Amino acid sequence: MTKLWTTKLSLPVLLFLSACAAPEPPATETAPPPEAAAPTAEWAIAIHGGAGVISRDVDEEWKQAHRDALSEALTLGKDMLDEGAEGLDVVEQVIRVLEDSPLFNAGKGSVFTHDGKNELDAAIMDGRDLNCGAISGVTRVKNPISLARLVMTESRHVFFVREGAERFAEEMGVEKVDPEYYFVQRRWDALQKALDKEKQEEAEKHGTVGCVVLDRAGNLAAGTSTGGMTNKRFGRVGDVPVIGAGTYANNATVAVSCTGWGEKFIRNNVAHDVSARIEYKGLGVRQAAEEVIHGKLDEGDGGLIAVGAGGEIAMVFNSSGMFRGAADSNGRFEVGIWQDDDE
Ligand code: ASP
Repeated sequence: MTKLWTTKLSLPVLLFLSACAAPEPPATETAPPPEAAAPTAEWAIAIHGGAGVISRDVDEEWKQAHRDALSEALTLGKDMLDEGAEGLDVVEQVIRVLEDSPLFNAGKGSVFTHDGKNELDAAIMDGRDLNCGAISGVTRVKNPISLARLVMTESRHVFFVREGAERFAEEMGVEKVDPEYYFVQRRWDALQKALDKEKQEEAEKHGTVGCVVLDRAGNLAAGTSTGGMTNKRFGRVGDVPVIGAGTYANNATVAVSCTGWGEKFIRNNVAHDVSARIEYKGLGVRQAAEEVIHGKLDEGDGGLIAVGAGGEIAMVFNSSGMFRGAADSNGRFEVGIWQDDDE
């Protein structure tokens, strides 16, 4: 990590020295973010399983099932990072585990659209070079995060939607499923309830999954995967696959994955805004995340996970709960659901 920062700091310094006629820019533009200057961990990971109204009035078994699923995914990521795996591999593998769980609104457990279908979105981003891949509205792909990664690595494009994304999936030979694969009774009941009320069913509208990572090589990566929002209309695309809204990673600043009311996250360009506050204002990761979640969004809109270039983790939300977990090379390992769970 020390090596990384030496490398990163040398370029601006060299540029500054070579442009001696230029006036010295304000300190905030040249100073590295305070937390970036003091690396805290050799590797770090945070995951989320969605934010929203999560009632405490649920049985122990339900809580334990979610905690266990988060722990399983976090343990996989932690072990991979400890062994020196590349951040992007960790993000993809961890999200695949969460996508395969019926508990979360991604992959297998995706929510239903207004028309009773499942249309899945995902995105992944590499903090080394800002390369990224996203897909939206797929209906037969088992693990959308892997397809998003293939868009990034195997195409000249960044974003494929609907039939085009399915066609690309076919070309890439990714695992396909029948649309019935996504049927989860709880999600179906939530749609019926939402249709009855003709409004979002609060308790069931969230559950998106995400993962952000700093690997041992000092690289940041972020990924997010979702079924979207219960009762969403034809062709609706949320924040998750919109780079800079629900997903963003840049080695110079932070990796971010969001969850919540997608339209609000798109309007506020949330993930990139966290990065911009670190880059332009010199804020630490937590402060930047808090400014955006508490200062720009409305109460109940959702939250985000973020990991900075020094390994600092922030998990910030303005809803009653957010399924989440964090681990790092200093021995931190925890999962939580509500605001007062330990972070
Ligand atoms: N942000 C997702 C969307 O709007 C939903 C969620 O995070 O639960 O599609």
